[in-house]
Amino acid sequence: MNLLENKVVIITGASSGIGEATAKKLAAEGAHVMLGARRKDRLEALAAAIGTNAAFQQTDVTSRAEMERLASVTLDRFGRIDAIVNNAGIMPLSFLSADRVDDWDRMIDVNIKGVLYGIHAVLKHMLERGTGHIVNVSSVAGHVVRPTSAVYAGTKHAVRAISEGLRKETVGKIRVTIISPGAVVTELRDSITDETVKEALSNLTYGIPASAIADAISYALGLPDQIAINEIVVRPTAQEL
Ligand code: NDP
Repeated sequence: MNLLENKVVIITGASSGIGEATAKKLAAEGAHVMLGARRKDRLEALAAAIGTNAAFQQTDVTSRAEMERLASVTLDRFGRIDAIVNNAGIMPLSFLSADRVDDWDRMIDVNIKGVLYGIHAVLKHMLERGTGHIVNVSSVAGHVVRPTSAVYAGTKHAVRAISEGLRKETVGKIRVTIISPGAVVTELRDSITDETVKEALSNLTYGIPASAIADAISYALGLPDQIAINEIVVRPTAQEL
């Protein structure tokens, strides 16, 4: 039996990359997907391509009210929320000495507060039902830190810590999964505002397709309720870091 059939899943950052690939994969497995991101035209096109088991709501994850709205629109449309994939993220890498404080703020707002608002938006509903699955997208940068990634890695370490706390606090009721990708070919590098760092990263020769991460998310979501995959790290075979 396909356990994703008819599951209702919210996906943030669904307008490109890993979120888009996850929406396609889960919908192909029979899930109902609610797509959230800021670029409405992208969401509209993706929802139309997927068909009737997809809907979208323009959402900025840094807004608590917009995340609450994403959850309420999902309940109105599909009647319940079985899972959320807190995937939206940005990666404006730079050296701390470059003093790009605005980038630090944005990373904290999107990568940490966005995940927290996602948890906030669904947790009460899931606890009331005594079931639910929260998938938080961290990174290999949630495990290792390197020059230019201090703040980004800090946010991704935070996602892992928050997820582990959530798991312990909701044990027996809610499944919590951390997804930690290595290099994936997406638009993520476009969020780098420091041209030197961006240029250096453009030499990276490896990177796996977003569908590899979507497959991992689908696997975790598709298991029976009593089995919780707590973390999956997916790297390109060629990635040492
Ligand atoms: P993309 O840039 O392709 O996708 C990022 C998504 O996040 C977009 O859909 C974007 O939508 C959304 N997003 C950004 N800011 C906001 C916001 N304020 N509100 C709502 N949505 C927002 O990159 P990826 O698919 O690679 O990134 C997905 C996740 O995977 C991120 O958390 C990233 O950190 C993580 N990751 C990626 C890796 C990689 O190598 N690609 C490696 C490790 C982790 P929009 O702009 O329309 O709002």
